[in-house]
Amino acid sequence: MSSAADIVTETPLGGPTLPQERRLVTSIPGPRSQELLDRKADAVAAGVGHTAPVHAVAAGGGVIVDADGNSLIDLGSGIAVTTIGNAHPKVVAAVQAQVAQFTHTCFMIAPYDSYVSVAEALNRITPGDHAKKSALFNSGAEAVENAVKIARKYTGKQAVVAFDHGYHGRTNLTMALTAKAMPYKSGFGPFASEIYRAPLSYPYRDGLTGPEAAKKAISLIEKQVGADNLAAVIIEPIQGEGGFIVPADGYLPALVDWCRANDVVFIADEIQTGFARTGEMFASEVFGIVPDLITTAKGIAGGLPLAAVTGRAEMMDASHAGGLGGTYGGNPVACAAALAAIDVFENDGMLERAREIETVLKGRLQQLQAADPRVGDVRGHGAMIAAEFVDPATGEPDAALTAAVAKASIAQGVIVLTCGTYGNVIRFLPPLSITDDLLHEGLDVVAAALAAS
Ligand SMILES: *Cc1c(COP(=O)(O)O)cnc(C)c1O
Repeated sequence: MSSAADIVTETPLGGPTLPQERRLVTSIPGPRSQELLDRKADAVAAGVGHTAPVHAVAAGGGVIVDADGNSLIDLGSGIAVTTIGNAHPKVVAAVQAQVAQFTHTCFMIAPYDSYVSVAEALNRITPGDHAKKSALFNSGAEAVENAVKIARKYTGKQAVVAFDHGYHGRTNLTMALTAKAMPYKSGFGPFASEIYRAPLSYPYRDGLTGPEAAKKAISLIEKQVGADNLAAVIIEPIQGEGGFIVPADGYLPALVDWCRANDVVFIADEIQTGFARTGEMFASEVFGIVPDLITTAKGIAGGLPLAAVTGRAEMMDASHAGGLGGTYGGNPVACAAALAAIDVFENDGMLERAREIETVLKGRLQQLQAADPRVGDVRGHGAMIAAEFVDPATGEPDAALTAAVAKASIAQGVIVLTCGTYGNVIRFLPPLSITDDLLHEGLDVVAAALAAS
């Protein structure tokens, strides 16, 4: 008998009907969560880890409820996925209607409306007013793989440049693009060839202006790769897993200009930054850049698996028929969810809400920084804000402190995620549906965890 099923049927769970509160009725993990974690250890591959030791049974607004009846504040949104809120009622209704209609035909066999409508919406809402087209996939990594395929086919060139601290996924090509060895790459090689790495702009650590950092990157690209060999440059406008690194002003525009002048496709990986997360629909808009291709996933469909490549029509059309696609790509249930989610992003005040959350998060974290020199840097945009923890004496990254603060926060019912090449960054990615009260309470808990660590 499933404990989760008991709770789901006894309580009006799901969506915003959950009480918006932090509630601890057992220690974390409680006995029912521990039971699931024991089964997980027996049944699930050890390589698939977890951050919070809970058995989730419902989520909505700003909370995740576990099988023991604990209600945890969600400051991670399942890694920037449930941006509009978990089980958002519009997504639930759209999914329920679609799933009763048909679950799959394969878009490459018998096309349907929702896929085309998602493509039209993405072409409309992504940066730039040039002619655009889209193709849909299942995961972020798959979108990145396809963006590289499209750029290579269009340019007839092979090399791809990614950046220090970059994260693009866990498939073979995207592991090659990803910078960090542990845990993403170690032991999983050999990796795809013709991938090169350039220096990022990391203002807190490199002390360079945007144009200086761009000059350094471009010089390396010209000397070590050569524009004649280079199909694409791929970069996260604000890095996600790499530590929420915001490049200095002028860095991204200089890279875009260089790409345009050298027939190199500029790919913005907006899989984590996209869909209102940064207070703009896409982070490229924060920096005033217009990418040639843009990869999206995570927030796109309110929690259902969907991803896309959107870009200049002539680039997207360079591939022969049958060269792009996949059995499940643009699944009709995921597309129905995406149309509902995009409606919410455009019409329900999500950009404004992300900016309000930025004010709360930055205000609180900057207070912490002023009081505690171990908080070395506070940065980010919108509801994508991070604090970098350091040894105040040396400025060296303090991963142990970061892990301790995150662990203590989760034990007190606040789900926070860490990130960063050095593992010394706590990132805040709350759902935009969280209340200010819950956000403040979550930050109180993190502050107390820091004070005690
Ligand atoms: C999460 C992420 C990916 C990979 O997406 P998956 O859906 O996990 O394959 C790629 N790029 C960025 C920037 C991401 O944050």
